[in-house]
Amino acid sequence: MNDKKIERPTTEEKSLNFLQQIIKEDLENGRHNAILTRFPPEPNGYLHIGHAKSICLNFGLAQQFGGKTNLRFDDTNPVKEDTEYVESIKEDIQWLGFQWVSEHYASDYFEQLYDWAVVLIRKGLAYVDDQTQEKIRKNRGTVTQPGVDSPYRNRSVEENLDLFQRMRAGEFEEGAKVLRAKIDMAHPNMMLRDPIMYRIIHAHHHRTGDQWCIYPMYDYAHGQSDSLEQITHSICTLEFDIHRPLYDWFIENLEIFPSHQYEFARLNLTYTVMSKRKLLELVKEGFVSGWDDPRMPTICGLRRRGYTPRSIRTFCERVGVAKRDNTIDVGLLEYCIREDLNTTAPRVFAVLDPLKIIITNYPEGKTEEIETENNPENEASGKRKIPFCRELYIERNDFEIVPPKNYFRLAPEKEVRLKGAYIIKCDDYATDDNGNVTEVYCTYYPETKSGMPDANRKVKGTLHWVSNHNPLDIEVRLYDRLFLNEDPAAEENYIEALNPDSLKTLTHCKAEPSLAQAKAGDTFQFQRLGYFCVDADSAPEKLIFNRIVPLKDTWGKVNREG
Ligand code: ATP
Ligand code: MG
Repeated sequence: MNDKKIERPTTEEKSLNFLQQIIKEDLENGRHNAILTRFPPEPNGYLHIGHAKSICLNFGLAQQFGGKTNLRFDDTNPVKEDTEYVESIKEDIQWLGFQWVSEHYASDYFEQLYDWAVVLIRKGLAYVDDQTQEKIRKNRGTVTQPGVDSPYRNRSVEENLDLFQRMRAGEFEEGAKVLRAKIDMAHPNMMLRDPIMYRIIHAHHHRTGDQWCIYPMYDYAHGQSDSLEQITHSICTLEFDIHRPLYDWFIENLEIFPSHQYEFARLNLTYTVMSKRKLLELVKEGFVSGWDDPRMPTICGLRRRGYTPRSIRTFCERVGVAKRDNTIDVGLLEYCIREDLNTTAPRVFAVLDPLKIIITNYPEGKTEEIETENNPENEASGKRKIPFCRELYIERNDFEIVPPKNYFRLAPEKEVRLKGAYIIKCDDYATDDNGNVTEVYCTYYPETKSGMPDANRKVKGTLHWVSNHNPLDIEVRLYDRLFLNEDPAAEENYIEALNPDSLKTLTHCKAEPSLAQAKAGDTFQFQRLGYFCVDADSAPEKLIFNRIVPLKDTWGKVNREG
């Protein structure tokens, strides 16, 4: 996506989205005095940018309307869940800048959910089914064909109560029995064809241990948990709209607090995958270095890459709230981090592929200090001094022996300005046996520095540079998109769509001495190169920088041409 095409929100976009409208009306007409939302992650993986959308929405709506937000772990599947994930989820939400009022676990409600299941059995609205889950699936029918009643559908209340209690007591093998709601096997909405409420799983739960061997299904646990917490607006993604009648059915028949479910379009992003199963596979198979690999769309990956919480919040706001599924260009996310760092990140000099320049008319052994602004976009950021001397480094690709047309960088007999310092002219160069340039010899014009008589002399090219006076040797990791295709999840095998060049490690880069103090997480603009962030692997003696984004989006262009 071209930066220029992304515009600031128009007045229309600033008007209320459909969820804001609903909440505003609910408060105005007294349906609710205050709103309570929740963010309900399943602790079976790390959060990703799609979850960030849901977090910003749930917490954002509550903030906007003076309400509150709960954090609820939807931990109803012991096989896939873990405390490691619980901790990371909390850390990520807080890092994004949000705080829940109370922390809950669906597993805390297991006893209440069990009691309510008994209520439904007593009302003749639930029964124990001995059919296998596969058989149940088969007998559900199709959209055009009604389902087939289970032979166990008309068990007496007493028998159901007895069997359900024995399911809980651990008398049966996994898969031997399930508890189903008794609704309508011919209902046009397949969700209402006697959905499963409980299945038997003999597994250790990360919080309830071995206390339970029956676990509630999402549809039975979720709405009831909402109701227990008196959630007013239960916001979820679009694929749950067909679940809503079931959500309402349980609440109505249990006669409990009437939480309501609202659906919005999930966030999809180009050039990545977002399903937790796929992300887990990328980690397990070693295609990335971990959940926090800077190429991952996870919150911890984005954080390590150098994304700021504010840039992610801005992104989520610009994406808006849609009722139809769509895919957002990752270019918008990149635009948001550039925009944020433009005002906050100090400008510094670093050279990724160094070529040595010798200024033959500059005195040997002399060093002078050049004063330069830390960030021209932000006066308060002040100025700093960088050393200048006879030897310095420029980018190898900023010099050509035989320059192409309209090449405004350095070449024999050509002049360029060294950014913030002098104009230099190339007189000569040396090569090795293979014809590679090893050194470039230049002269400088002492009167062309800022504050000198010729300071304003115009030359077409300006280059960044690092002087050979105490330069830092740094490692730079250039990250590119993890996948080559816009929609890798649509591929038969998304692994084949991985970008083989998504990480390039450069180990011989040079940077100005002021960076010696940089700490993990600090962000900078390397002049002319992009925004970079100190990586967690960094050590004082060997700084490592991640490229967050280049200054301009060249990806589309390079890949179209190339
Ligand atoms: P899985 O990948 O295992 O299906 P999930 O994406 O549904 O998991 P949950 O932990 O159940 O993950 O999600 C927590 C909340 O985040 C849910 O309310 C879910 O609707 C929301 N959410 C998940 N993915 C997205 C997304 N891409 N866009 C917006 N909201 C999302
Ligand atoms: Mg889910």
